[in-house]
Amino acid sequence: MSRLVIISNRVAVAKARGAAGAQGGLAGALNSALKKYGGIWFGWSGEEAEETTGHLQLNTNDGVTTATIDLSTNDVEEYYNGYANSTLWPLFHYRIDLTEYENETGRGYERVNETFAKSVSLLTEPDDLIWVHDYHLLPLGERLRARGHKNRIGFFLHTPWPPARLFVSLPYHERLVRTMLEYDVIGFQTEEWLGSFQHYCAKELGAEVDEVTGKITFEGRVTHARAYPIGVDWDHIQAQGETPEARQAAQRMLSSTRHRTAMIGVDRLDYSKGLPERIDGISRFFDQNPDRARDLVFVQIAPPSREDVDSYQKIRAELEQKTGQINGAWSEVDIVPIRYVNKGHSLAELCGFYRASKIGLVTPLRDGMNLVAKEYIAAQDPDDPGVLILSQFAGAAHQLTEALLVNPHSPDNLARAIAEALDMPLSERKRRYDILVKTVRDDDIHGWTQNFVSDLKHIP
Ligand code: UDP
Repeated sequence: MSRLVIISNRVAVAKARGAAGAQGGLAGALNSALKKYGGIWFGWSGEEAEETTGHLQLNTNDGVTTATIDLSTNDVEEYYNGYANSTLWPLFHYRIDLTEYENETGRGYERVNETFAKSVSLLTEPDDLIWVHDYHLLPLGERLRARGHKNRIGFFLHTPWPPARLFVSLPYHERLVRTMLEYDVIGFQTEEWLGSFQHYCAKELGAEVDEVTGKITFEGRVTHARAYPIGVDWDHIQAQGETPEARQAAQRMLSSTRHRTAMIGVDRLDYSKGLPERIDGISRFFDQNPDRARDLVFVQIAPPSREDVDSYQKIRAELEQKTGQINGAWSEVDIVPIRYVNKGHSLAELCGFYRASKIGLVTPLRDGMNLVAKEYIAAQDPDDPGVLILSQFAGAAHQLTEALLVNPHSPDNLARAIAEALDMPLSERKRRYDILVKTVRDDDIHGWTQNFVSDLKHIP
């Protein structure tokens, strides 16, 4: 049986799930895929060194081998903070206003991809399946081909893919996509992002695109691009929800909110998550329903993220200012309507918080999928489920159509949805939950891994 070689910017071993882990469910799924197939997970150690030497640090833990390298401070600045997080991330989330177009960082990005390819070359055998993850590593497959690798190589993009009209604002956009066409399989979270990619390939490159099979033919090479919506680890969430840690977290939330309704948001502090817009919506709800200001407590968990990037410092300042303003306007001696928690929590604690919150507010301006929306559903009490308010611009909205779907740019729309959620009768909450939970449970992370790996192996 072929081994699996997984490559991502950072490596997340199963033990590290939780507070730090923006890769929560994904880390678990990839770890279990590695256990099943055997193989190795390669990525950056997260450590900075004076120089990038390519020295491999190997570790085997609970049957999974990881290999990491350190990167030089300059590489981290240009590849990670620069091109990946100041160019591709904002562009892929439709924010050309925040996108930086620096050739310097583009060169750093290519250099680190080449460094990764060199290391991966040392680790792979001819019949290994290679699975590359995310926007940090778009050209890696092509770099491996240049080193003579004939393996099956797949790529999965966890973020959106922007419409061609936006994507062409990237200098060398064509070069980047040409490198991607060296993969055998390219996976997207939704049909929408897949459609944008196909449209770009057909219109800008003149590639032949078969929308039924996903086959893309370009200059004699064939690749397959398809949608594989990622899911959560259902069993793991159920188990975490039963832990004393989860019960305690739920209890803390309930006793601190008492007779008021708790509404929760859980997001990395990122401008794509629509946090200031969310506060504007809540503020509008209070303005329109002053008599209900005492009914609601909003808890926003927002662990800091990418703090070395300017736009992230700005969003933090903006959120703190808005939260301060609305709390100033609506607090009483015994009531603070918005609690903003600037630190991460374990999945078990989150499960407790989700369950104790009658409303889940997930309103990104743009999101590849959004796992928090699915986790919120998975953690609910089936006999008394909460209501999910979900942005129509999250990938998850394609599947979770029974959530209250909103336009996060509209404070009126958000305010209306909050009122509707607060007033929703139990029978309607159950009706919606029964449909949502089926999707979340049936399309879980293990199916996702299996589908992708199976296509990578078998697509001709
Ligand atoms: N998360 C966590 N602790 C926190 C906040 C978030 O473990 O304090 C996890 C959360 O459970 C979810 C992931 O981080 O699994 C966030 O994934 P999502 O797709 O919602 O957004 P991303 O951060 O990947 O953009």
